[in-house]
Amino acid sequence: MVEHLQQYGVISSEKVARVMETIDRALFVPDRTPAYADCPQEIGYNATISAPHMHATCLQLLEEKLQPGMHALDVGSGTGYLTACFAMMVGPQGRAIGVEHIPELVASSINNIEKSAAAPLLKKGSLSMHVGDGREGWPECAPYDAIHVGAAAPEMPQALLDQLKPGGRMVIPVGNIFQDLKVVDKNPDGSISIRSESSVRYVPLTSRDAQLQS
Ligand code: SAH
Repeated sequence: MVEHLQQYGVISSEKVARVMETIDRALFVPDRTPAYADCPQEIGYNATISAPHMHATCLQLLEEKLQPGMHALDVGSGTGYLTACFAMMVGPQGRAIGVEHIPELVASSINNIEKSAAAPLLKKGSLSMHVGDGREGWPECAPYDAIHVGAAAPEMPQALLDQLKPGGRMVIPVGNIFQDLKVVDKNPDGSISIRSESSVRYVPLTSRDAQLQS
């Protein structure tokens, strides 16, 4: 899978290739799902695990802000795959936090991570998974060098902008039916620069009730 993404030019970073090889996607998808196919897959609760090329793209966009010792937040952590990758990149001196509003998904993400190469980081506490409304971020470990949002926000959530460190970067899909993957940089003076990376299709960042009824 990783070689394929490298051949097609999706992965250019060695570090991202290595982390995606180390965290085995097969441990994070439901049984009988083709783990390495380059498409999103159903994980229940009207949610999906993102396609490998989207995981790779987001890891590359955030790579500079996922250096050892840095703090990373994964909103809408779903299966926990990307949170585990973040944890491997920031290492035992860093912090990787996953926030997901479906308690069953948080429980299964912890099971998935326990089988993966990121298990020691979960055990020692540099990686942690939480039930919560990700639109509020996770203030306890803020500010963050890197924030990833795995669901599409109708508009930019202020709490997440507030929890971004000066010099930090957030990658977030914004929009309703048509969404743009936005790259949000908080400059050292606290001002914000935003650019659109690509058009994307994510599940909505919404309330738990709205998601379960959709
Ligand atoms: N990156 C994850 C993507 C999962 S899909 C993965 O690849 O596994 C998006 C996730 O966002 C879903 O699990 C959904 O339950 C969650 N979500 C949607 N709105 C949310 C909210 N307000 N707070 C927390 N999680 C949310």
